[in-house]
Amino acid sequence: MSPKTLIIGAGGVGNVVAFKCAMNAETFGEITLASRTKEKCDAIAKNVKEKTGVTIKTARVDADHKDEVIDLIRKTEADIVINVALPYQDLTIMDACVATGADYLDTANYEHPDTAKFEYKEQWARDKAFREAGIMGLLGSGFDPGVTNVFVAYAQKHYFDTIKTIDILDCNAGDHGYPFATNFNPEINIREVNSKGRYWEKGEWKETEPMEIKMVWDYPEVGPKDSYLLYHEEEESLVKNIPGLERIRFWMTFGESYLTHLRVLDNVGLTRIDPIEVDGCRVIPLHVLKALLPDPATLGPRTKGKTNIGVVVHGIKEGKERTIYIYQVKDHEECYAEVMSQGVSYTTGVPAMIGAKLMLEKVWYEVGVHNMEEFDPNPFMEELNRQGLPWQVKELESPDALKVG
Ligand code: NDP
Repeated sequence: MSPKTLIIGAGGVGNVVAFKCAMNAETFGEITLASRTKEKCDAIAKNVKEKTGVTIKTARVDADHKDEVIDLIRKTEADIVINVALPYQDLTIMDACVATGADYLDTANYEHPDTAKFEYKEQWARDKAFREAGIMGLLGSGFDPGVTNVFVAYAQKHYFDTIKTIDILDCNAGDHGYPFATNFNPEINIREVNSKGRYWEKGEWKETEPMEIKMVWDYPEVGPKDSYLLYHEEEESLVKNIPGLERIRFWMTFGESYLTHLRVLDNVGLTRIDPIEVDGCRVIPLHVLKALLPDPATLGPRTKGKTNIGVVVHGIKEGKERTIYIYQVKDHEECYAEVMSQGVSYTTGVPAMIGAKLMLEKVWYEVGVHNMEEFDPNPFMEELNRQGLPWQVKELESPDALKVG
């Protein structure tokens, strides 16, 4: 019987997932794209039909309400739900999957709207319910988290007996021509960037002020860029799943203009997430800012330049120290030509499709709730090469190539 796929979320990432599932229609079967605003799904479905010839169905759903998701899964008879709405909806969609027996995949870990803190605790706590329902949940199948976890698993499988340190390096050198815009959902992006930095060293988490630690990294095909230490969710699962790990850090590039804008917005209070009263109305300043900023889904035709995301892994192989750099470079304009999207949505949406493809084909299939590094990385790495995200491996000379200063 032909499989049935339900995608929830019709933003920048949802657009790419819809295109890529349609381009792999033999695996995804009957595809439905659902979101809070059905018009966005219809617009994507129209573009998908024009560019690929594949018809996808559309529906409206408010995924904050579990019962609405349950009804939609039953109506579409979905075998798998690809959640590319916002992290706030992760738990309701997971619970709807448990109630209906559909498998689940997402790209970002759960976050409560009132607290800018993301962690896997509540999603991992659903492992028992998933096992009892006989379904699988794959968490964080985007680029980072997602491909970065798979890169680490690949390094572990092919290059190391013991991994000692991991540095994840995320560079978006794209230029969209706006003085200030974010490349994925502005609310989620700004909450992440404004949070305290955190990294794990010698068995404990160490906290920093936001943007306190900076280094310059020379990204292949992009060049040297200021890179700032942030906390990122794949650190939590990799600390748990990579035995012998001594340190893990995450770095992201930001330009001076982005940081100056953000400082001003912070100083005037526009990034606050607590409600305030304005003319008798209750508003959240960050929601006002989000409404004013360009929608990331519209950046595609204007964005030029490249992304480069990778991992530098240092450890021991047959008694000798070595350092391996695995990375992927993607051109924004190339993404737009293929699926009408900029590179950040592309590099997230393609791995979401690949994770779902491997689940539907039962190549990666195990009941319960799982992170990416728990599976054999080889089939995922092969799909990356086939589906538009070819990667490279380099042996670095220095035992610890990352000098922080
Ligand atoms: P967008 O804001 O562009 O899109 C989000 C979509 O979700 C919109 O269509 C929105 O609908 C919909 N949505 C929001 N709330 C609900 C709801 N209650 N019910 C149904 N639909 C809803 O975000 P992006 O596409 O940029 O990002 C999507 C996800 O991908 C996010 O979770 C983000 O954190 C994650 N991400 C992961 C990355 C990774 O590498 N792992 C990198 C980048 C993003 P509406 O238009 O009506 O608001």
